Amino acid sequence: METLYIVIPCYNEEEMLPLTAKALIEKMDALIAEKRISPDSKVMFVDDGSKDKTWELIDRLHRSIPMFTGLKLSRNRGHQNALLAGLMHAKEYADIVVSMDADLQDDINAIDGFLDKRAEGCDIVYGVRSSRKKDTAFKRGTARGYYKLLSKMGVEITYDHADYRLMSRRALNALEQYKEVNLFLRGLVPMLGFKSDTVEYVRNERQAGESKYPLKKMISFAIEGITSLSVKPIRFITALGLIVFFVSILMLIYFLIIWAMGRTVAGWTTTVVSVWALGGLQLLAIGVIGEYIGKIYLETKHRPTFLIEVDLEKEDREKKAG
Ligand code: UDP
Ligand code: MG
Repeated sequence: METLYIVIPCYNEEEMLPLTAKALIEKMDALIAEKRISPDSKVMFVDDGSKDKTWELIDRLHRSIPMFTGLKLSRNRGHQNALLAGLMHAKEYADIVVSMDADLQDDINAIDGFLDKRAEGCDIVYGVRSSRKKDTAFKRGTARGYYKLLSKMGVEITYDHADYRLMSRRALNALEQYKEVNLFLRGLVPMLGFKSDTVEYVRNERQAGESKYPLKKMISFAIEGITSLSVKPIRFITALGLIVFFVSILMLIYFLIIWAMGRTVAGWTTTVVSVWALGGLQLLAIGVIGEYIGKIYLETKHRPTFLIEVDLEKEDREKKAG
């Protein structure tokens, strides 16, 4: 029997935590009773620098029920970094780790399916939303378009998969070797390889609290996804530059011909239009290149992606060891 850790990043989730904890303890108890996972299995909440009572709640849960453990980041670092912190800590104690959100939008009963696939020898199992009826039409539409765009950019990504997945310790050790600071886990994990499969589930509504991904965060997460995994936008600019250059040569020939024919052109419109068009294009190009240089800057700094303030699991183990 393998030891399962469920890793849950939490940011200001005080309304959601009691519900999530209750649902998960029932699920874990059932899985343990069915002898599908080891009795040492746990739920690890990662507090991503919450400003509300989230950490107090995690600490209280941990003290009353040994199945719950917690990790506290030194400050808010965002969902992806909090998730990575949890995964990297959980893999030290667990054979398999499932990551999910705190809001129970992902059906916890899909874990049975994850375990079935694991028994078939998979190292990675992706949870895939079979229906997104509960998401707003806007979120659904933009998400669909975005996945299409990503695959056009050459990013390998599982359609309608977020961060609800099972990973084995072996896969997590492989992930650890990717020292990326600009994190987009759902694009990074497929790069690892290993035997993998998908399990479908129906995505529910958030049960309490509100989404921590407002439009602004969604857009920057989307840009992060493309620029941290693909260099196609830069190639696109190069191609565009070549086309513009080619067009300018044609224009030069054209103007030389009419100049030779003795017809002078007033040409104010062409000048103004081309100045604006080229200026705009250049600014856009510099912006895109700047985006990548910014990424290089952050990667070369090798700054840690997260810092731990409290690690309850480690404290427990040290206490036990005497
Ligand atoms: N989250 C986090 N740090 C953040 C923002 C969000 O750890 O800075 C967590 C949040 O608590 C939740 C998960 O990431 O468990 C997904 O967030 P949410 O459900 O708000 O996103 P949505 O489902 O609306 O995309
Ligand atoms: Mg959610």
